[in-house]
Amino acid sequence: KSENYASRAAYKLKELQRKFGIIGPGEHVLEIGSSPGGWTKYIAEVTGKSVVAVDISPMKYMDNVIFLKADIMGDQLIDRIRDTLKVLGKESFQAVLSDAMVKTSGNGSIDHSASYMIGNRVMEIANIFLSTGGSCVFKHFQGDMTQDLFRKWKDSYRFSRITNTRASRHGSREIYMIFKGKL
Ligand code: SAM
Repeated sequence: KSENYASRAAYKLKELQRKFGIIGPGEHVLEIGSSPGGWTKYIAEVTGKSVVAVDISPMKYMDNVIFLKADIMGDQLIDRIRDTLKVLGKESFQAVLSDAMVKTSGNGSIDHSASYMIGNRVMEIANIFLSTGGSCVFKHFQGDMTQDLFRKWKDSYRFSRITNTRASRHGSREIYMIFKGKL
């Protein structure tokens, strides 16, 4: 079941990549909410570089992946990412991608609030670690504050868009926010 899940998740990223050309060969990517690793495998294939992947849940060892087991809401993660960049000899990432989401409760407004906090945190992390010109993409569960979240960050990027994927379950409130060309 988890394998099906991972492959469905990866299919969504492939679809976003086809539409928006988010990542390319030779790029360093920070991936948030990576477990069990469907996206991670695809990102490593496209970039051919080490992917820095973060999740609060464990992830199996994979080639070309530096896994940080951490809660993205905590402060320690920032230092750990900084240390990892040093090891890679880099100062920033060309893309920050997030599929992170807590286990959905079934209550739309609770799920939306949780998703708002995660998305905003992803954008804060991108604000610190994304290179100029870089892209940030994250999954989001729609609700009252969706437009606020989008507007809060869109002026920091040349191109921004809210999109859904065919691979998402029919009728789900799941969308992706796409930001390209960090200013
Ligand atoms: N993209 C993955 C794939 O293709 O295999 C699936 C990701 S799954 C939908 C969402 C992940 O977000 C879960 O593994 C969960 O542990 C993680 N997550 C949720 N909240 C988090 C947090 N605060 N910090 C780190 N990871 C978190």
